[in-house]
Amino acid sequence: MDDIGFTGELAKEEDQILQGAEVAQVLFYARKVPHLAIVRGPGLLPMWYRPKELADELGVEMMFVRNWLRRGLAFRKDGQGHIWIDGSEAARWIETHRRSSSGGPLPDGWAYCMRCRVRVEIVRPVRMVSAKHLVLSGICPRCGGKVYRGARNGPPRELPSNPIVS
Ligand SMILES: [Zn+2]
Repeated sequence: MDDIGFTGELAKEEDQILQGAEVAQVLFYARKVPHLAIVRGPGLLPMWYRPKELADELGVEMMFVRNWLRRGLAFRKDGQGHIWIDGSEAARWIETHRRSSSGGPLPDGWAYCMRCRVRVEIVRPVRMVSAKHLVLSGICPRCGGKVYRGARNGPPRELPSNPIVS
């Protein structure tokens, strides 16, 4: 899954944390910072947190913390390759990213490409069902990498066969 934007730096630890969670994880990457994290963020201490500790402090799933790391939240690694995050940095990051910078909800058939860091229209979208969620996977037209999009968990709707014209 290195084609969805893992950095080499993070890949090792993430591989351990992430097993089997990829689909669930990608559902969340494009979402806004959870409300609970926004509320609790300012209460983070200027100390080093492990990703799991940070997630617990903020009351969010680990997948959010992983996404933030991938999207640029600063971290350091110790001699054993463990990731540590400064609480002050995390608080600042949450404050900066609490509002969606993408300008409203993604249209159907679009996804956020983590490589290109822009919204793209999904090429060759494929529906996948994971646990309770629907996921769209497809190809980014800019970089050719894989993109994912969580979909509403309602009755499956066919994607328009023609490109959406904006
Ligand atoms: Zn791309």
